[in-house]
Amino acid sequence: MPAMTVFGPDYCAAFRCTAGACRHSCCVGWEIDVDPETMERYQAMDGALGEKLSRCISSEPTPHFILSSQERCPFLTDQNLCEIILQAGEGALCQICADHPRFRNYWSDRIEIGLGLACEEAARLILTSPHPLHLVPLSQDPSEEPEIPSQEEIALRRLRDQLLADVAESGPAARLREYLIYRHLADALYDGRIEARIRLVDRAFTQITVGWDGSSLETLIERARVFSNEVEYDDEKLEQLLTGGQQLR
Ligand code: SF4
Repeated sequence: MPAMTVFGPDYCAAFRCTAGACRHSCCVGWEIDVDPETMERYQAMDGALGEKLSRCISSEPTPHFILSSQERCPFLTDQNLCEIILQAGEGALCQICADHPRFRNYWSDRIEIGLGLACEEAARLILTSPHPLHLVPLSQDPSEEPEIPSQEEIALRRLRDQLLADVAESGPAARLREYLIYRHLADALYDGRIEARIRLVDRAFTQITVGWDGSSLETLIERARVFSNEVEYDDEKLEQLLTGGQQLR
C-alpha cells in the first residue's frame, strides 16, 4: 500500500520546544486527554513513574492528567520540565503531548501539518520566517493511503494556494495572514464553508493586529499566542468568528 506524504512549512523541522525556558508552558492550564494506546503503556509501567501515572490520571469521563490547583500538569517539575520525558524519554508521551503545537489537515492525497500559534516558540518561527510559506515533504505516513481528490477538493486547494500567493508583502503581518489561510481554509474540506473561512481569516487577522503599530515583533507574537489559545482551540468562539458574531476578546 503506498504511503501518504506529509507536507509542512519548511520551518517545521527547526521547531524545538524551549521547555524550562518557555514563559507560557502548554503544560499549564490545559486538560490533556491520554489516548487509549498510551494509556495501555502507562498501565503496564511499574516503579515510581508507573505508580505516579496511575495516581495522576483520572479515567472519568475520559483518561486525562489531573491538574494541580494551579492548573499545572502533575508531571511538570518546578523547573518546568516534563517528568515523563526525563524518566522515560520523549517516546513515552501521549499523542496530544507529542503532537503539540502541531495541527494536521487531511487531504485525500496528502497530509499537511503546521505549527500552531498557541506556542510562543512556534509563533516566533512562523512570524519571523524570512520568506513566504513554503511547503516541503517532511515524512511518509504508512498508516494512510492516498486517494484521488474530488474536483471540489482540487478547486479548494487551488483557491487556498492562490490566496497564499496573493500575500505578496514581506514581514510578520504577512506571515500571520499566510498562517491563518493555511490553518483554517482546509477545514472547508469538512464543512464546505469556503467563503465563511475566508472571512474568518480576515476577522482573525484584524483581531490580532488591531491597534498594533507594526514595530514590536514581541507584541505581535504575544497577541497571536493569546488569540490562538483563546479562539483556535475553542469551537464555540471559532464558530462565532466564522459566522461573524461579536468579537470575543
Ligand atoms: S508552549 Fe511550546 S515551547 Fe512552551 S512548553 Fe509548550 S511546546 Fe514547549
